[in-house]
Amino acid sequence: MSDQTADPAQSPAAATAAPTPPPQRRQQPQQRQQQQQRQPQQQWPDISVVIPLYNEEDSLKELHHQLRSVLGRMNARYEILFVDDGSTDRSFQVLRDLKRADKHVKIVRFRRNYGKSAALAVGFEKALGNVVITMDADLQDDPAEIPSLRKRLDDGYDLVSGWKKRRRDPISKTIPSRFFNYVTAVLTGIHIHDFNCGLKAYRREVVKSVKIYGELHRYVPVLAHWEGFRIGEMVVQHRARKYGRTKFGVGRFWRGFLDLLTALFTTRYLRRPLHLFGFWGMAAVAVGVIIDGWLAVEWSLGTTSLSNRPLFLGGILFIIVGIQFISIGLLGEMISRTRADEQEYAIRDFIK
Ligand code: UDP
Ligand code: MG
Repeated sequence: MSDQTADPAQSPAAATAAPTPPPQRRQQPQQRQQQQQRQPQQQWPDISVVIPLYNEEDSLKELHHQLRSVLGRMNARYEILFVDDGSTDRSFQVLRDLKRADKHVKIVRFRRNYGKSAALAVGFEKALGNVVITMDADLQDDPAEIPSLRKRLDDGYDLVSGWKKRRRDPISKTIPSRFFNYVTAVLTGIHIHDFNCGLKAYRREVVKSVKIYGELHRYVPVLAHWEGFRIGEMVVQHRARKYGRTKFGVGRFWRGFLDLLTALFTTRYLRRPLHLFGFWGMAAVAVGVIIDGWLAVEWSLGTTSLSNRPLFLGGILFIIVGIQFISIGLLGEMISRTRADEQEYAIRDFIK
């Protein structure tokens, strides 16, 4: 653990302490999409609220009402972008009614349920605001946190993640989730407490640059950190689910861990696979050679006969698996070499 870790036992004010130090303000973010999507004459919003939803018909009206009153007080241009992830209830009809009454509402509707990651990815793509806030549609996240989340970005962060310190969820969810967050923090080196909080604030550059695919929505902070963005954390209120039920069953945990492997591999080793596979491959070969070498010495001294030593097979297994690992690493290197031209670097400033 590094000194960046915020202590959960600290007071709420201290608990918002910076996991990473604030950077200098950016001057010229280099973003491809920025030019593509926003016309210079256009008055684009300061804030985009992106809300993925799947069968949340009962919550939407109340959520919209709360959002409007919070955003209206903020004295900022805003849009509320609902991404209907293939709902089969009346969610879309409710959204259409909301849009009729409020021009800030925008709706994207999927043909079928693609999952929260896909909904967020499309929301990120369509969002026009300088600041993008994501939140769940089930009223568990409190819109009243939006002003402080945005302020927190001004402390010099690119992404501020909510921390549901007092979580209003069943214990079957909170305990595995603690473990999951702990392991993720240790393995990724990003010391925040709540990776999977739906309530987050991003600077525009982050959402236009991070690519969420598969089910990686839990790891947006990991992907963003890898691209060099500064990650902060803020304690937020959490509420119990009022309507409907959770869309993620127990399957979320093992899927979450597989996704963690993906996130780690694609951030750390995508461009140098041999460093991962080669290391473990050589280690396995070394273990196998030591075991079998030792047995061979014993055999040559006549103290034992190899047919009596099942360990001999173990040694051979280590050597074979090790060589396979090294070969996989080399194959990975070849693939990554042929794709070298797709390499992109995240440039923070370009001063001419
Ligand atoms: N969600 C979604 N697509 C899905 C599953 C969930 O857009 O396939 C949305 C859901 O409607 C909610 C948010 O993602 O707005 C979080 O889902 P949920 O509340 O079920 O997760 P939990 O709070 O149990 O972690
Ligand atoms: Mg929820």
